[in-house]
Amino acid sequence: MPSPSAPDLDRFRERADRFIAELDEEYYLHYAGLKDTLDLAPIYERYSDLTDLEQAKTLGEIADDDWGIRELWRFASEGYLGQLTREQSEKVAELEASLVADVDGTKVPFRMLRPTIANEPDRDKREQLDRTRVELTEEHINPLYMEGVDVIRRAVGELGATDYAELYRSFGFRLEELASQCRALLDSTESLYEEAADKLFRGRIGVGLAEAKRWDVLRSFRAPQWDAQFPESRMMPALEATLSDLGIDLRSQQNVELDVERRPKKSPRAFCAPIEVPGRVVLVIQPMGGADDWRALFHEAGHTEHYANTSADLSMEQKRLGDVAVTEGWAMLMQHLTDDPAWLSKRLDFPRPQEFAEEGTTQLLYMVRRYCAKLLYELEFHQAEDIASQSSRYVDLLGDALKIEPAAADYLSDMDASFYVTGYLRSWAFEAQLRTYLKERYGSEWFTNREAGSLLRELWSLGMSQSADDMLRNVTGDEIEMDAVATLVRETLA
Ligand SMILES: [Zn+2]
Repeated sequence: MPSPSAPDLDRFRERADRFIAELDEEYYLHYAGLKDTLDLAPIYERYSDLTDLEQAKTLGEIADDDWGIRELWRFASEGYLGQLTREQSEKVAELEASLVADVDGTKVPFRMLRPTIANEPDRDKREQLDRTRVELTEEHINPLYMEGVDVIRRAVGELGATDYAELYRSFGFRLEELASQCRALLDSTESLYEEAADKLFRGRIGVGLAEAKRWDVLRSFRAPQWDAQFPESRMMPALEATLSDLGIDLRSQQNVELDVERRPKKSPRAFCAPIEVPGRVVLVIQPMGGADDWRALFHEAGHTEHYANTSADLSMEQKRLGDVAVTEGWAMLMQHLTDDPAWLSKRLDFPRPQEFAEEGTTQLLYMVRRYCAKLLYELEFHQAEDIASQSSRYVDLLGDALKIEPAAADYLSDMDASFYVTGYLRSWAFEAQLRTYLKERYGSEWFTNREAGSLLRELWSLGMSQSADDMLRNVTGDEIEMDAVATLVRETLA
């Protein structure tokens, strides 16, 4: 195949833009409860030329050091792999939506098992629910994941890489560098984690870290004792007031759609659908209240404002592709306001904000350690000869990091495609470093400062055109360091 000319590339960008817009709109309609079925196959078929093997390889040949073409190459390659495993993904989704667990005569839909465990005060019942979840995963879902893994392993070779990790290294992912930062973080925060997690679990569910089991984690993170502080009725007003302090009038943003209506089939979790960037960004929420719901709303509002403020003049890849740590970082910055004592006091007239902040920070440390271990595990997994033996590595690595043994059966479902785990890890560091900078420059109430708001809008207008590393360097002069998360956690827990 001859190399694509500039007009070919422009046509590719234009079609990719429509492809993503149609996918996002379909996801939006389905998960907002406006359309029963999720019909992705016809969209993939209409745009199959974008993600065929030849297309991906041709882009790979001309990518060299050109950031934009490398992003198009990654997009085509991920689309190619996604096409090949679409059947397995659809079957997994179908099973997850249709399997029903029978726990002592009580029927619980598979997807409701985790929320049910989180809301179950009785430890024995939690254990029973989780054991049933694991059995169903092992018996019905894992065989499909296994098929998918085989398909990906073969296809990665066709894309010219020895394994999945090598493919991502060629896209510019610095996996080993991040992994070594993760090892250092796991090491340096180990005793801090043991102490803080022990305190959190004892306080919330009366079980110390040494006795805690995996079914206790969801319950202790649920924290119903804080529900009264996070009422449903105040979610949207608190978000609007926070944005207003930063100079954004949410209700008058023409390109932001707020979907807050109640619908029976609407996803209970908030999400953001950037259907057109920046022309039509939808923030979807079915407010329920509770700390977790507030966190999710603010997180998705961070994505929403990032995409809605992105400059229309950027190229497709600068608006829609790029480094996910950037958009996740903006989402985390908004989300972490709901754990910030200064914000809680200012916005919610909150009792014991310091106590809540410490608990939130302990949960963050748990998540960061979990993702550090996940990255180490995923790197081993993708380079291992024998896949089945990896379930014991999963238990070892995650168990070591969290001091709570995970279920071996989750070793396939607990992996993210596209090394998304690196996006979250780097977004936590990016956010921690940026938040520290905002506090130093604008004070602990930076979120009420108009200048801070102007800076954020200016950075948001860059969309996805810079990596999180470049953006942080341009703003603060620093490199992204996982250790920054450890420093911030230590300060809060001190
Ligand atoms: Zn996110």
